[in-house]
Amino acid sequence: ALPDAERAIRTTCPYCGVGCGVLARGADQPVAGDPAHPANRGRLCSKGAALTETLGLLGRLLHPHVDGQRSSWDAALDLVASEFSRAVAEHGPDSVAFYVSGQLLTEDYYVANKLMKGYIGSANIDTNSRLCMASSVAGHKRAFGTDTVPGLYDDLEQADLVVLTGSNAAWCHPVLFQRLAAARAARPDMRVINIDPRRTASSDLADLHLSIRPDGDAALYNLLLAEIAARGAVDADYLAAHVDGFDAAVTAARATDPAETGLSPEEIARFCDMWIGAERVVTLYSQGVNQSSCGSDKVNGIVNCHLATGRIGRPGMGPFSLTGQPNAMGGREVGGLANMLACHLDIEDPAHRDAVQGAWNSPVICQTPGLKAVDLFDACADGRIKALWIISTNPAVSMPDAGRVAEAIARVPFTVISDIVSDTDTARLCRVQLPAAGWGEKSGTVTNSERCISRQRAFLPVPGEARADWRILAQVGARMGWADAFGWTSEAAVFREFAALSGLAEAFGRDFDISGLADLSDAAYDALKPVHWPVPRAGRTPPTTAGRFFGAGGFYHPGGRARMLPITPPQVQLAAADWPFRLNTGRVRDHWHTMTRTGRSARLSGHIAEPYAEIHPDDAAMIGVADAELVGLETETGRAVLRVLISDRAQRGTVFVPMHWTAETAPSGRVNRAVRAAVDPVSGQPALKGSAARLRRW
Ligand code: SF4
Repeated sequence: ALPDAERAIRTTCPYCGVGCGVLARGADQPVAGDPAHPANRGRLCSKGAALTETLGLLGRLLHPHVDGQRSSWDAALDLVASEFSRAVAEHGPDSVAFYVSGQLLTEDYYVANKLMKGYIGSANIDTNSRLCMASSVAGHKRAFGTDTVPGLYDDLEQADLVVLTGSNAAWCHPVLFQRLAAARAARPDMRVINIDPRRTASSDLADLHLSIRPDGDAALYNLLLAEIAARGAVDADYLAAHVDGFDAAVTAARATDPAETGLSPEEIARFCDMWIGAERVVTLYSQGVNQSSCGSDKVNGIVNCHLATGRIGRPGMGPFSLTGQPNAMGGREVGGLANMLACHLDIEDPAHRDAVQGAWNSPVICQTPGLKAVDLFDACADGRIKALWIISTNPAVSMPDAGRVAEAIARVPFTVISDIVSDTDTARLCRVQLPAAGWGEKSGTVTNSERCISRQRAFLPVPGEARADWRILAQVGARMGWADAFGWTSEAAVFREFAALSGLAEAFGRDFDISGLADLSDAAYDALKPVHWPVPRAGRTPPTTAGRFFGAGGFYHPGGRARMLPITPPQVQLAAADWPFRLNTGRVRDHWHTMTRTGRSARLSGHIAEPYAEIHPDDAAMIGVADAELVGLETETGRAVLRVLISDRAQRGTVFVPMHWTAETAPSGRVNRAVRAAVDPVSGQPALKGSAARLRRW
């Protein structure tokens, strides 16, 4: 029987950034979607519905281990604290690093960030969210002055046109896609465009699918901007009142060669007609935009079009970044990226640093941005990092050039991992393993893609000696000499401190403000219902209109104006004869990241049982391979052996491979060992969809 709403525990799904509310009653009962949660209104996708199938103690890390031997918590924490302190004393604060995760709860993330930036004094804390949405953060900051998501999920249902750009939401954000499909069915005039080199399950909903050349998005949005200007479709009043940079952006846009999109003139014209002709447009974008060596420019190309037409911050319109992970947004809010300070404040701004240091009453504060993910593991490889703590993530599988990342971790003199499972590719490389509490066992908050803060609540006993991540971090901070600053007794106390810190938004005129939640009692925190930020303290007017930012301007650059950027799309890269394929990696519908959870469910694993290489029939004929035969995939950095899936949904010259499988689950199919570690120069986000490859029959 499904849990009834009254007796169930209200929590949230730990997978994607949609952030669905879940009703749970125990490990032996199926979960249900929470009808009262604004993100999903009772819906769940296949992954969420199978959550209790992924629980259980098989493979759990239940006790601390040091050098392969079981250890007491005290001995393990003493060792971690002393080794980090020693590295800082001998080599300076930048000789240590944390690599954390969008799986962490906001309270965990806050404590990790405070320990590294405010007490150790380095900004060397980066996160696997760097792989997911760093280009959106950079694009937002360049356009708006802060990392602000302007709109709400409701906008998808209110739009006349939704443009899914580089997003297979049907598989990667399924419940939001279900909401979109339901809105489309209820409003026959609503239109959907899908821009993606592949034809995916999301394309099936679209009125127009544009099989764009990989990374052709920046050129396409430039062509749209030029057309907006040519047709006089700009919102002149909005531009005059709120936006700088229009002329330069349009001049750059006019120089764009349509061939860079790989689309026909008719397709480009139809896209422009539909976009310009629909007042209420939402551009929903995800990893096809972000995971690119020009991801930040793509984001700004999209935002340019919305700013030029004033289609932002009002119902049914705006650019909308879909985050991959359940708490990528919470991580951004606490400053869990190496180039951010807490509460959307800037490391580069001395006044911001002073204010945060003052609020924390900390001995130091980081002075400059730290190492972003790819650079961080480079620093591990070349000996700059002496102590590394990896929390709740598996970079030896998920990072680009993953084999090299595994070697880099192995070179660090002192390594720690906190995780719920004992035997990941990364855990095997670490000297100290600390057992963390998992979903259903720990409590805290998360923020989803539409700025909605929700509680995750425990409904299961904590197994073995596992502890909440925030508590483990605080206990190390106390042992490093800062017992007062890390002396919280509950996650509610951590949240109150974070919420109070966000009150700095008022002094600095920033967007992220949840100071209205700073005085929650433990009981009120426990009962907290989903709430969209900003939530300023009583007496302060929120900078939003109907929950949305920027409908009436109010940007965060000096002068309160937004900035359009001139975008120069990358040159068309013709495939080299030796490397004729472009490797595109991504997710399948029923697995999550490196399958440490979803791999436990036979039902989920039954959808797609093994990694595969999806290629076009013409390419299959060229290399002489038949459906379901094996192909060897090779790039300059690595190799994989994969079963071939021949489909006219693939674009000629491209190969799509899902990224989930590990050394345990498919030793020869770990595709991230073959992904080049190129990054967007602005955001540092890896171009996980951009490696040149070749294929041959195996
Ligand atoms: Fe979980 Fe995302 Fe599915 Fe919702 S859409 S149930 S958050 S995986």
